[in-house]
Amino acid sequence: MSELVFDTVSVRYGSRRRALTAVHGASLTLPSGQVVGLVGESGSGKSTLARAAVGLAPLTAGRILLDGADARRPRGRHRPVQMVFQDPYASLDPRMSVGASVAEALPRGTKGPERRAEVARLLEQVDLDPGRAALLPSQLSGGQRQRVAVARALAGRPRVVIADEITSALDVSVQGTVLNLVRDVQRRLDLTMLFISHDLAVVRYVSDHIAVMHLGRIVEAGPTDEVLTDPRHPYTRELLAAVPRRGRTGQDDGTPAVPDTLAATEPADPHHPPPGCPYHPRCPAGPLVLAGRDACRTEDPAEDAATRPHRAACHFAAPTAPARPQPPRP
Ligand code: ADP
Ligand code: MG
Repeated sequence: MSELVFDTVSVRYGSRRRALTAVHGASLTLPSGQVVGLVGESGSGKSTLARAAVGLAPLTAGRILLDGADARRPRGRHRPVQMVFQDPYASLDPRMSVGASVAEALPRGTKGPERRAEVARLLEQVDLDPGRAALLPSQLSGGQRQRVAVARALAGRPRVVIADEITSALDVSVQGTVLNLVRDVQRRLDLTMLFISHDLAVVRYVSDHIAVMHLGRIVEAGPTDEVLTDPRHPYTRELLAAVPRRGRTGQDDGTPAVPDTLAATEPADPHHPPPGCPYHPRCPAGPLVLAGRDACRTEDPAEDAATRPHRAACHFAAPTAPARPQPPRP
């Protein structure tokens, strides 16, 4: 069992006029041994939520629990939650051989031949030739460096791995291989995983569940196929519409085209989020487009999100699929 729970987590940076609530009351469960994909545009608070789990971002409110215990203050020598970042240099010292970088992350007390064997085993686990352990990160390709970063995270014997945009800096040609590797390792080691990307096409490829983040809030969450085929939040539908048609699950999912009046709307300023539903100035089903939706300007839909399907933070989280026509009565 390795379940990670974010319980109404808020993270606030700075103070007074410069203050910014980067994560606002986010609740999310990572079931043991499963991959939860976290998607949302840049600046929506994905990295902040992830960093809070390992103590790299301040926790202003809420709790983050690993099997019921504070995940930010692990007991013992192990750090059970490990992160892999977009830039492998964030975790690899450019002057250290890749073998030494991996060895450094092994539990203390792993010595001599056991240490070398562990490094070789970890490099093999990420499909790297252990013979390359003496190389520097700069002597590897971007994809290989990211594999080393994964091996280093695994060296800490984590129960939960958080992968934050780990393929975003890679060539498209190697993204798929790294994704397959990560998914493979996750299954083999039965890891619990939070997989973060701004790209829904990437997230849905590896995730059992999807959570959608917008302006510091999780606005929709559910099993991947349910969220993809029956998105309840207009922002999820916006993200889905941005995924190239090829390979989409539904042919025509009824997503309305974004009206011109909204297309030019700037993303909201996180220092001054709009009142009510923070998505309303951009929403193609909101008060700027449809009559009778004034609640969106004043009432925060996050408050009763738990009562709606996919915990959608939308006052009008109705199903998108058109109602099935009733068969004619005999
Ligand atoms: P994402 O990973 O979704 O792109 P981030 O979590 O990096 O989003 O950022 C969320 C918001 O918090 C952004 O507005 C960003 O500018 C701000 N932010 C992130 N880190 C800090 C920090 N250390 N200090 C102040 N503001 C920050
Ligand atoms: Mg980020």
